[in-house]
Amino acid sequence: MAARIISGKEIAASIRAELAEEVAALKEKGKTPGLGVILVGDDPASRSYVTAKERACEEIGIYSDDNRLPADTSEDELIKLVERMNEDPKIDGILVQLPLPKQIDEDRVLLAVSPSKDVDGFHPVSVGKMMLGQETFLPCTPHGVLQMLKRSAVTTEGAEVVIVGRSNIVGKPLANLLIQKNEFGNATVTVCHTRTKDLKRHTLGADIVIAAAGRPEFITADMVREGAVVIDVGVNRVDDPSKKRGYRLTGDVAFDEVAEKASLITPVPGGVGPMTITMLLYNTVESAKRSIG
Ligand code: NAP
Repeated sequence: MAARIISGKEIAASIRAELAEEVAALKEKGKTPGLGVILVGDDPASRSYVTAKERACEEIGIYSDDNRLPADTSEDELIKLVERMNEDPKIDGILVQLPLPKQIDEDRVLLAVSPSKDVDGFHPVSVGKMMLGQETFLPCTPHGVLQMLKRSAVTTEGAEVVIVGRSNIVGKPLANLLIQKNEFGNATVTVCHTRTKDLKRHTLGADIVIAAAGRPEFITADMVREGAVVIDVGVNRVDDPSKKRGYRLTGDVAFDEVAEKASLITPVPGGVGPMTITMLLYNTVESAKRSIG
């Protein structure tokens, strides 16, 4: 079976078009949604993520307040900036690009972000509300995955889902959202990690496999059942001298062989990545709407 491709790029474009209309409507009411962006240091991957996020804001009319700080910025300086953004009515969402340099305690910085502007959904208050099924900002990558499934008419209700990876930003929140008693959830979820015995036994039993381990092409065709839905969250840089930049991006799934067996599959790039940025825009627009009631 040759899988149908779930194009994150296309789904993201249609959500962004919907958001652009909402931004235009907010502007008519005198409110321009604003995102405060903080990048500390000059890690090339972080720089390119931040640039992509700012460009996406600009495209749909969100104002972005760009703050690029030197790598030796102190924790207190960073927290002061976050606190200033918490008070700034032009800013509806705050994005602190991770990872932060070693001298800064990430947890302390994320705690300083007001939950009302926590558009990444990383604050413990947001995480707690999500777990309780209360309205809150959902973390962007898991929310992006749910939107991809929903907009590709994949039913999660009653489905056996196997997630490979248990990080705080992908695996754990995704598992949590998929077991909620709502339209995105009602799945039976298994979360696998490096201590899982016989990973293949689990993945072979799954209607939906979600790979979020950061291991290039390690989910192979023999690990996936015929007709499964395969979502590849992984983004890995693999050396490739034939490319001008010396590397290529690949997911956690051996795409070509798994696509022969799956019914639906996401590519890398062009899959979950564009959805993550889109859900950040979504949360920022939601926050702007809340701020004007
Ligand atoms: P992470 O914090 O490194 O967590 C990786 C998880 O995978 C851990 O729970 C780890 O298990 C598990 N794992 C690693 N190797 C494994 C193996 N061989 N078998 C089973 N489990 C294994 O990574 P992350 O931040 O969640 O990111 C995961 C991947 O998604 C990365 O490639 C990252 O670049 C990508 N990502 C993409 C987006 C996007 O927008 N597309 C967003 C976020 C992340 P242990 O807990 O036991 O160590």
